[in-house]
Amino acid sequence: MLIIALLCVAAIQFLIAQRKNTISELEVRILHETAQAPADVVTAASPPKPQQPGSSSHKPPGETTASTVATGHEAAQAAAQEVFQDTRTNKGEAMFYQKMDDSRVKCDLCFRKCLIPDGKRGFCRNRENRAGTLFSVVYSKPSAVQVDPVEKEPQHHFLPGTQILCLGTAGCNYRCLHCQNWHLSQRSIEEINSYYDLTPEKVIATALERNIPTISFTYNDPISFYEYVYDIAKLAQENGLRILWHSNGSLNPEPLKELLKYTDAVTIDLKGFTDKFYREVSSAELAPVLDNLKTIKQSGVWLEIVNLVIPTYNDDPGDIRRMCAWIRDNLGPDVPVHFSRFGPTYRLAKLPPTPVATLETAYGIAREEGLNYVSLGNVPGHINNSTFCPTCGKRIIHRVHFNILANELTEGHCRFCGHPIPGVWE
Ligand code: SF4
Repeated sequence: MLIIALLCVAAIQFLIAQRKNTISELEVRILHETAQAPADVVTAASPPKPQQPGSSSHKPPGETTASTVATGHEAAQAAAQEVFQDTRTNKGEAMFYQKMDDSRVKCDLCFRKCLIPDGKRGFCRNRENRAGTLFSVVYSKPSAVQVDPVEKEPQHHFLPGTQILCLGTAGCNYRCLHCQNWHLSQRSIEEINSYYDLTPEKVIATALERNIPTISFTYNDPISFYEYVYDIAKLAQENGLRILWHSNGSLNPEPLKELLKYTDAVTIDLKGFTDKFYREVSSAELAPVLDNLKTIKQSGVWLEIVNLVIPTYNDDPGDIRRMCAWIRDNLGPDVPVHFSRFGPTYRLAKLPPTPVATLETAYGIAREEGLNYVSLGNVPGHINNSTFCPTCGKRIIHRVHFNILANELTEGHCRFCGHPIPGVWE
């Protein structure tokens, strides 16, 4: 019996040992594959870096990049992340950031100036630190592509009645409680898990093939996909296309000025006129937006402003008056201002829509403060969808919602009295 028992114990030990060996071999094989195969992918995906102006991170040619020295598990992680990169052009490296002494990077693109640890992303969910190099994970990966009328941006003095090719991605550097596009802007690209593979060259070709004169960046904030916007804008200029972007206007001065070189028109959301509103509703700041509005106006790029009027949040007539006076004094009376109607959505879904009377009050205040081109949005059919000549008072662009019914401009002048109407008309 004793011999049989000893034989049984030996057999069990042998089987356990075999099992350990099997697991161990499997682990070794997985580790080996993880260490080897992705390293090739990383090397293949690391062509020379794009030389984009303004980036403090760009190295001289030939200098070793972080990804080429990554090995083992780090390389596997990097390779997995390359799924969201354009591996052909590797143009996903971010512009405007600094490498810190530790492995963190500091993003200088917007007012937040995120300090991003290795392997993490910034507040916008789109800029990721990979071993000390900052990448845009949405480069060439728009999650929304659509053709819209330019009036939808809204832009009323920029090529009225024409189409725009619109692009948006995941992510945003704001957290607006009332975001209409929260399913895009308040998600990472992995959470959306749906995007087009659309290089800048393909975007330009699409616009040219379809005779669409303008490419627009909208839906989420173009700040959060800046490099994609920038590369498309440069190509657009070379191909005779126009560039428009709709933004919260919170870039830092240097990236703003760089992008304006390749921009034809900008729509800025001036979301309110108090720090409290910006802090509590958008998790943001008012001051950078006001500074940038002045910079855009001074640049000569065509500027229009939208103010979404939200009941009880930013509809105080005194604040609206102060905002209009600020626009008049700092940007001039000819910048078009759109008061837009709020509809219940996202985290403000329990609020009612803005009463039309509130919008009409805002319109009256803006005109009293001397603004020449004021209109109401999201109120289809309202008479103030249209544009009126500030001199003779005649309707010069008859608009119903996004549709142009009549355009009474002749070479940028009122057909009735000859008053010059500022804008981009051809
Ligand atoms: S662009 Fe994104 S990562 Fe950069 S500072 Fe702004 S929120 Fe942070």
